[in-house]
Amino acid sequence: MHFEDSLEFAISQDHYDPLREFRGRFLFPRYNDRDVLYFTGNSLGLQPRAAREYLVQELEDWKNLGVEGHFNAKNPWFSYHEPFGALLAPLVGALPTEVVAMGSLTNNLHLLMVSFYRPTKKRYKIICEQKSFPSDLYALDSQARFHGFDPANAVIGISPREGESWIRTEDILALIHKNRKELALVMMGGVNYYNGQLFDMETITKAAHEAGAYAGFDLAHAAGNVALSLHAWDVDFAAWCSYKYLNSGPGSVAGIFVHEKHHTGNIPRFEGWWGTDARTRFMMNRTFAPFHTAEAWQLSNAPVLSMAAHRAALELFNEAGMDALTQKSRKLTGYLEFLVNRINESTGERQIRILTPDDPAQRGCQLSLEIEGRGKEVFSSISARGIVADWREPNVIRVAPVPLYNSFQDVFEFARSLKEALQ
Ligand SMILES: *Cc1c(COP(=O)(O)O)cnc(C)c1O
Repeated sequence: MHFEDSLEFAISQDHYDPLREFRGRFLFPRYNDRDVLYFTGNSLGLQPRAAREYLVQELEDWKNLGVEGHFNAKNPWFSYHEPFGALLAPLVGALPTEVVAMGSLTNNLHLLMVSFYRPTKKRYKIICEQKSFPSDLYALDSQARFHGFDPANAVIGISPREGESWIRTEDILALIHKNRKELALVMMGGVNYYNGQLFDMETITKAAHEAGAYAGFDLAHAAGNVALSLHAWDVDFAAWCSYKYLNSGPGSVAGIFVHEKHHTGNIPRFEGWWGTDARTRFMMNRTFAPFHTAEAWQLSNAPVLSMAAHRAALELFNEAGMDALTQKSRKLTGYLEFLVNRINESTGERQIRILTPDDPAQRGCQLSLEIEGRGKEVFSSISARGIVADWREPNVIRVAPVPLYNSFQDVFEFARSLKEALQ
């Protein structure tokens, strides 16, 4: 890819960007009478303009119809969740019957582990990232303890090699192989939250299966960020939240994937009334008659208010298409990488170390910039210029230019501020 370190270049890239219209369909926080430069779509995505209208529709129907809204609302609440399978499927590369919008991420991980972490005396180990998001580690540790195992022994974290910033796939495969007799589950992020590394989920899943274990992924930083093919990769299960790259609002409804091959048979699961077949649900039968889809994992009736915002966001993703989004994303993040490398070259020393893989196939849109010593000072300085990025102790700035609403000009202006802050 050809890049230039100039505002004109950035503006011309935006001019020819087929997705440029989407920026106007989001609401940006303001700082000193102008829109902020927003790079934290990896933490809380911006609000789609349509979210308000979708939410107000449900508030109005609630006001005017009360309980009748379950069947008489414009979008009846009884079946409100049903279109979500089709909306989510293309984002994660699944069949519509394999995905459900429900619950919250950590809750869902626990529910999925009821089905996919069923340790025995001999087979009880879990492989994860050593630097996984803490909530995932707490979930894994408590699952191991719940089953009577010591997490110190049962939960194995993998780290990059000494002096390296990301984990080699060959090391993951070797660890799986080494533990093959005792391994119950490989549960990793699709994209690591800290360094932005995208894992080779297909290869990891294959290795887990060869070892006789299940493979599941936490897609909090992958859903809406990278192209996924969960079904084709034969992944057993996955879960994600919708408030990061999926722009569905703080704490909004999350999502799960369960591979079709687990939909029938006697896989154990915790169940609730929304997992029973909709045709017989309201007969209030004593016996659970499950859906033979991922909906069988669904416990409760749909949280319509948060799903309204989620729907507005998912429609934007479907309109833009993951192919176009990932194409732009690679360019946008490639441009950021180019400009950061230029800063290092121009100062003659490597002040900024990029912790994210330099191979576009091993990352999403986020770059994690390590600034030795003065990180916090640099971060405060760019924040004072209206840039919203994310600080991670002790010295890392995470920057996520997202293809739906970030521009090449955003990236250029970020790099310019970063350079000035360093000088
Ligand atoms: C953001 C994030 C979470 C947050 O979990 P919630 O249950 O939504 O609060 C968990 N795991 C990962 C990997 C995350 O990135």
